[in-house]
Amino acid sequence: MTVPDHIPDLIADTIAAISTPPGRGGIGIVRLSGPQSASIAAQLVRLRQPLEHARARLADVLDAPGSSPDIDSDAASDPVRIDEALVTFFGAPHSYTAEDLVEIAAHGSPVVLDLLLRRALSLGARLAEPGEFTQRAFLSGRLDLTQAEAVRDLIAAQTLTQARQAASQLGGALSRRVQPVKQALVELIAQLEAGIDFAEDDLDVTAQDEIARRIDALTPPLRALEASFARGRIVHDGLTLAIVGRPNVGKSSLFNRLAERDRAIVTAAPGTTRDTVTERISLDGIPLELVDTAGLRQDPGTDLREDLEEAEQLGIHRSREALADAALALVVLDATQALNDEERGLLAALQGRPALIALNKCDLVPARNLAAECAGLPMLATSALTGEGIPALRERILALATGGASSEPGMLTSLRHHQVISCAICALADAALANSTAIPHEMILLDLYRALWALDSLTGQTTPDDILNLIFSTFCIGK
Ligand code: GDP
Repeated sequence: MTVPDHIPDLIADTIAAISTPPGRGGIGIVRLSGPQSASIAAQLVRLRQPLEHARARLADVLDAPGSSPDIDSDAASDPVRIDEALVTFFGAPHSYTAEDLVEIAAHGSPVVLDLLLRRALSLGARLAEPGEFTQRAFLSGRLDLTQAEAVRDLIAAQTLTQARQAASQLGGALSRRVQPVKQALVELIAQLEAGIDFAEDDLDVTAQDEIARRIDALTPPLRALEASFARGRIVHDGLTLAIVGRPNVGKSSLFNRLAERDRAIVTAAPGTTRDTVTERISLDGIPLELVDTAGLRQDPGTDLREDLEEAEQLGIHRSREALADAALALVVLDATQALNDEERGLLAALQGRPALIALNKCDLVPARNLAAECAGLPMLATSALTGEGIPALRERILALATGGASSEPGMLTSLRHHQVISCAICALADAALANSTAIPHEMILLDLYRALWALDSLTGQTTPDDILNLIFSTFCIGK
């Protein structure tokens, strides 16, 4: 194959990796990318037909390279066939990496895959770095940086919503949202540059208020993008919800209701949940880690043995830690019991934090109005026993988690994206300020270029190498 001009020389070598997860499986794939992919593959296995673009070919994996062409020969020196593989070749530039690429699908035996990989390395391939296949797709211009990051997010997705979000970003949703702003910015820069370069050629100098108007028009779409991070971030990262309260109020039962699985053990004895139990659930596609904690304090008067109390104390300690670490808190109160001092203290400590109160066991007593005692925290009646109030509780948790922000295409999902957009907004504000002081256009241009550089770094046009390496190092080998 010929390496496209824009691929730097340093990636003109051929890389190889096992692209399927470690361990045993029905199939496992060894992937090769680079100019020698096809020739290495042909020596690696015995192909039954020549390789052809986008066609799967049957091949034999022999226990030694340099195989005899006759598989049926029973000469003692003949290599033994240890597996049958399916080899698919994609010719440059119509492959994932835009280079020649070969995928060898064999049975998912670590021994077979290891043999194939080691043999590929001995035939001149180099072991791929983590994320190097996707990095090559980026360097060859097949994917922009937001799309390359989306590949990683798609692989790591834990909920369907996360996968959809990653797929939309992979489809270029975020880049498309930024593109019109970037285009308008480039046009403004070009116009100001032209005004400077050709000032003596009677070219009209752009008026100050026109520049102001055009800078102003760039900011609202960027602000909307910046705001989308509120939801994008939690879709991407998820949140932790700590479920806290006195022993026996129904924390574990509510936890199970929310998790819709029996993970925590529920019994009628106080203080059963001695340690924290966590469960990851998907609430409207948002990954939520539920942490069921031990009661905040051992009920006095119980006759539990000392070792149990000790365990309970440890649990209490952990529950305070969980509360400190969690983004959200769900305080469970028992509707049949009056608030005690400990609970009042807890509610006061949670003021100003995103927290909800579930007044549980509402099936046992008529609804009580505790508003005055609950330090202004939102409260709703639930029954973990009958399921009453559980759908409403899910909704309230979701609203608390998202801050009411809704889902939209091309959301910002990573801190890197958010910083880049904030940086562009700041640079545009500086440009607007500079313009208002009737400063020479050269100075305004400095700020506009800063904004452009920020937007470029989102898609990776001008991202420095060290940032790129950081991003691709978070991939696993073979991706
Ligand atoms: P935790 O110690 O706070 O985790 O409380 P559990 O979830 O272990 O529940 C303690 C006891 O209260 C168990 O016997 C549960 O069946 C019972 N319980 C929990 N929620 C409710 C509820 O909403 N109504 C009624 N009637 N009983 C409940």
